[in-house]
Amino acid sequence: MRVLKFGGTSVADAKRFINVSDIAINTATQTQTALVLSAPAKITNLLVALVKSGVSGGDGSEQITQIRSIIEPLIDTLDRQYDRFDGQRILKEFNTTLDLVQRRIDGIVLLGVCPEPVEAFIESRGESFSILIMHELLKARGYKVRIVDPVTTLITEGGVLESSVNIEKSKERYKMLPDDKEAITLMSGFCGGNENGELVLLGRNGSDYSAACLAAIADASCCEIWTDVDGVYSCDPRAVSDAVLLKRMSYKEAMELSYFGAKVMHPRTIAPIARFHIPCLIKNTLNPQGEGTLIAEDTDRSIPIKGISDLKNISLVNVSGPGMKGMVGMAGRLFSAISAEKISIVLITQSSSEYSISFCIHTQDAMKARAAIENEFLLELKEGLLDPVEIVDKKAIISVVGDGMKTMKGTSGKFFRALAQANINVNAIAQGSSERSISAVIDEGKVSEAIAICHMSFFSSRQVLDLVVLGIGGVGGELLAQIQRQHHKLKYVQGIEIRVVGVGNSKHFIKDINGIDLDNIQDRLKNSEDSAFSIDELRRLVEDSHLVNPVLVDCTSNEKLALSYIDFMQAGFHVVTPNKKANTCSYEYYKGIRDTARKCHRKFLYEANVGAGLPVINTLQNLLSAGDSLIEFKGIMSGTLSYIFGKVEEGMSLSQATMDAYEKGFTEPNPADDLDGMDVARKLLILARECGYRTDLDDIVMEGAVESRFLKGATLDELMANLREYDAIFDKKVQKAKESGRVLRYVASIREGQCRCGIEAVDVSDPLYKVSGGENALAFTTDYYKPIPLVIRGYGAGTAVTAAGVLSDILRLQNWTREG
Ligand code: ADP
Ligand code: ASP
Ligand code: MG
Repeated sequence: MRVLKFGGTSVADAKRFINVSDIAINTATQTQTALVLSAPAKITNLLVALVKSGVSGGDGSEQITQIRSIIEPLIDTLDRQYDRFDGQRILKEFNTTLDLVQRRIDGIVLLGVCPEPVEAFIESRGESFSILIMHELLKARGYKVRIVDPVTTLITEGGVLESSVNIEKSKERYKMLPDDKEAITLMSGFCGGNENGELVLLGRNGSDYSAACLAAIADASCCEIWTDVDGVYSCDPRAVSDAVLLKRMSYKEAMELSYFGAKVMHPRTIAPIARFHIPCLIKNTLNPQGEGTLIAEDTDRSIPIKGISDLKNISLVNVSGPGMKGMVGMAGRLFSAISAEKISIVLITQSSSEYSISFCIHTQDAMKARAAIENEFLLELKEGLLDPVEIVDKKAIISVVGDGMKTMKGTSGKFFRALAQANINVNAIAQGSSERSISAVIDEGKVSEAIAICHMSFFSSRQVLDLVVLGIGGVGGELLAQIQRQHHKLKYVQGIEIRVVGVGNSKHFIKDINGIDLDNIQDRLKNSEDSAFSIDELRRLVEDSHLVNPVLVDCTSNEKLALSYIDFMQAGFHVVTPNKKANTCSYEYYKGIRDTARKCHRKFLYEANVGAGLPVINTLQNLLSAGDSLIEFKGIMSGTLSYIFGKVEEGMSLSQATMDAYEKGFTEPNPADDLDGMDVARKLLILARECGYRTDLDDIVMEGAVESRFLKGATLDELMANLREYDAIFDKKVQKAKESGRVLRYVASIREGQCRCGIEAVDVSDPLYKVSGGENALAFTTDYYKPIPLVIRGYGAGTAVTAAGVLSDILRLQNWTREG
């Protein structure tokens, strides 16, 4: 026999009932088949609410109306679809049951309480509706049906609302039932009967357990749990979109996963079938062709970690005190007191100093637990041997489960590192002695992030980077275009998914947590109704959407924004920027960003600050951290000045060369901003600070490419007129250099701790001699690179190379979990 259990969503409406009957009929053609049914979706919750309403004096009409609105159309549809389906009779039986329920509710209203057996009766009616309807449907489709009454067959022990099935006794009962190999067996889930033949419940979501028990007592060849997902996944597929479907897992793994919260099967399901070595299949009613997940003795060894699950509504109880160390039998007394109250303990940890014992319980039991402990340790508490019992609510347990953990090193390291990198505090830790699971107690509000990041670190070879891009002018616009062009390759070849979740400029901000479509983004932003972003809004975006690796990309040149990087990092963002403002303002802020980055485990990356896309900052940082130190630096760091000086060398006057650069779009809107050398000074300051000099802009000895009095002018024409006056002076310098075989370059340097920028005449032996035409060149003489310096040379300006530099910084963040 095969036992097939169908959950609430599988019997939610008439179409689903037909689906289920198709699956049952199909199975019945191959082997004897039994169906265990849940209540149609939502019905049990409504019945539970109905009882609650009765206890507080309500007549329950609201819930009854809702139950009718689900069941009546269901019966009606089947009645119309199948000639032999006796809708009238079914409806009548349904109404009779509702009358019975109503009478009990009236009684509850009078009593003001609901006796447990009455509660069990009412709450199990949903299952009886499913059996009633399926019985009629199978008959209407020409099949014989055998009904197994769980109340007289599944013999239980324990509380009325959460009983356990005694398999031996139930087996005996089952043997006594008349068999009918031709018929499809039907049994309602969720309930059983005690020794007195009274109806009891098996606990919420207990139909899976009902099916497992039926499989065990009927010696079934397989137990199938049919639900609304394709099988057991590495994580709840509704919570993590790239959850991995597992083909196979061991009973023990399944038990542990469900115990720690994987709702796909009830934690008690596995024990009865494991005991009789009955394989269990988890299948999708909406995709019967799918293979599903097989739960059996052996696991799939190729996947050492099977899943990550979470349990919410947990309270952490901490019992500690100076007297605990020597107190013999302390743990025994504590746990006996708790178990006497029938409180189940989800997880225990004890510090090796024996100074404290912490354990987790379901929050609904917290008050009872406190009373039980205080009662048991009345004297000790009074004498101060124990500290007052501490119970912290709103906790959750997150667990990593897998048989392979035993032989695989580093699982717990990976787990805790992932949690730490998402800035999640761990309150307590437990590892099952079977080495099949590791659990951490964390704040309930952090569960989504915890699951996402742990899943990413255990299961996903794909790294997700969530970007908020501010400023979509030249560099920002080009960056988005590059991301769009690279998207497919990054995602499918390199396993990196870049998701732009926010785009903004000074006026508007648009966001989409699933990733903004970047087509026509400029127009969409311009026409957006949404106003500019605020840090609070971005903070909420990170928190509400549980982003684990968000990156703020500042492509503006805005100083105010640059001065907010610390706030952004504290809100959880990495910061990537070509904007030089943050690195060139006060040294305190410069240092503050780095301290915050370290503290918050965030990265601040700014490769494009110097030399655009050239690998300058990173190279320098790598050298210095490998123990190298700077002896001397010399470089051409302005693409514009490099171009202008090159043209002068070819014979143009300075003003002509400047105009030429302007017309080609190589200069700032006001070319004076290039010629005054300020931009170079800022870059030099960044390099100097990078090398460890505690220096400021004022400390740089600076001479513009052109004397400042010739850089005046409200308009371009005025500036050009001034420059023309300077041409003769400049030409003299050029000629003088030429006479000694040199050329003029605008050079930034660091020598003996002094930063300078200004014009230098360099000879052919100088690495900067040949650098012109818009190129940058940076020569570092260091302990490791001497006497020939390390030279980094190439185009150091332009939106394409700058955006590429920014993008390469962004991509470095994919490794942040390992770097953290
Ligand atoms: P049923 O009504 O069929 O008993 P449940 O809602 O009780 O269905 O269980 C199925 C749900 O379990 C799925 O819809 C899914 O969201 C959830 N779930 C949680 N963890 C997992 C997991 N690891 N694998 C599959 N599903 C899971
Ligand atoms: N209908 C019951 C519940 O919702 C049992 C089950 O579906 O497993 O708890
Ligand atoms: Mg279920």
